[in-house]
Amino acid sequence: SRAKLFDEKTEVKTTFKDVAGLEGAKEEIQEIVEFLKTPEKYTILGGKIPKGALLVGPPGTGKTLLAKAVAGEAKVPFFSLSGSDFVEMFVGVGASRVRDLFKQAKDKAPSIIFIDEIDAVGRARGKNNMSGGNDERENTLNQLLTEMDGFGTNTHVIVIAATNRADVLDKALMRAGRFDRQIYVDLPDIRERKEIFEVHLAPLKKVENLDTEFLAKQTPGFSGADIANVCNEAALIAARNNKTAVDKQDFLDAVDRIVGGLEKKNKIVT
Ligand code: ATP
Repeated sequence: SRAKLFDEKTEVKTTFKDVAGLEGAKEEIQEIVEFLKTPEKYTILGGKIPKGALLVGPPGTGKTLLAKAVAGEAKVPFFSLSGSDFVEMFVGVGASRVRDLFKQAKDKAPSIIFIDEIDAVGRARGKNNMSGGNDERENTLNQLLTEMDGFGTNTHVIVIAATNRADVLDKALMRAGRFDRQIYVDLPDIRERKEIFEVHLAPLKKVENLDTEFLAKQTPGFSGADIANVCNEAALIAARNNKTAVDKQDFLDAVDRIVGGLEKKNKIVT
C-alpha cells in the first residue's frame, strides 16, 4: 500500500488563543495571516508577498501549534509533512511527493504548507558525504527550492517550515524569495509557563485554588509540550488515586515524573 503523502486539514480549529505566550512570534506571524486573508491589499503597489517563513526554536515550544493557528486564523487549508519522513525514502519518491504537495496546495490556495523538521531535508548540500552522500535528500531539497521559485506573485501559498537547527540549513533556503522571514520561538519564561498551564488546565476537573504561578515556578526549562504533558499526567495520577479533582500534589508528582523523563533523555553517554 502506498504511504500517505502528506496531511491535509481543510478546517483548522486552532487559533492564536490556543497558543500561550509567544507574543513576539504571534505578532510577527500575524502578518502572514493578513497576507492570506487579503492578498490584494498588499500587492496593489507592486510588492510581492513573501513565500515562506522559518520558525526556529527548541523542541516542543509550539512551532507546529503556531503554524496551525495561522491557518485557523486565516481560515485556509493546512498541508503538512515532516522532513524526517523523507529520510528513508526510495529514489525519486521525495521529489515527487514535494511536487504533489505543492500541486494540491496551489489547487486549494490560499493555503499553508507546513514542513516540520526541515533540517532533515534542508541540510547544507555537499556536506556529510562521508556515508556516500544522500542524493535523495538533495533531490528533495532541490525540488522544494524549485517549487518555491516557481510560485507566481498570485499563487497565495505560504510555506512555513520549522527547525531547531537553523545553523545546519542550506543557505539557499534562506535566500530572498524563499524562507526570508525567520521567527524565533523560545522556551517559555515563568510568565509564559503560567499562561501555558492555564490553557492546559482549562479542560481538567481540578480543585479550585490551584496556584498556576506556583506551578510555573516549579517548572523552569520546561517547554509548552512538557507542560501539556504535566497536566495530562496529573489528571491520570489523580484518577489512579480515585480523586474527583486534580490537586496540587498530583501536579507535583507529575512534575517529578516529567523531570525524571527529561533527565533520562538528556543523559550524556560517556
Ligand atoms: P517539535 O520541534 O518537537 O516539533 P513544536 O515546537 O512544533 O515541537 P508543538 O508540536 O507545537 O511544538 O507543541 C506540542 C504541544 O505542546 C502542543 O500541541 C501543545 O499542546 C503544547 N504547547 C507547546 N507550546 C505551547 C504554547 N505556547 N501554548 C500552549 N500549548 C503549547
